[in-house]
Amino acid sequence: MLCSRIRTALSARLDGEELPPGLTARRLDDHLVGCPDCRRWHAQAHALTTGLDRALAPPEGDRAAADALLARLRSAAVLPGPVAPGTADTGGKRAG
Ligand SMILES: [Zn+2]
Repeated sequence: MLCSRIRTALSARLDGEELPPGLTARRLDDHLVGCPDCRRWHAQAHALTTGLDRALAPPEGDRAAADALLARLRSAAVLPGPVAPGTADTGGKRAG
């Protein structure tokens, strides 16, 4: 069994896709047991996949913290809000 075929199948399994024809999860695991190179490759691919998943779906807590911070900044008038007509300084002319 070629390592390249094994890795293609391992990648598919990590992505939750179907294994290529002729390959089973059992055969993949058997190959990993006897092939240190593919074991290392699989560990790296797994780390990459889980890392990507985390980046694409940030924990709910982060989002809530960001929203809370935005709300505090708005209430403190640090961020510019909508300006009502008539209250905006026309600029240019100044008394005195
Ligand atoms: Zn291999």
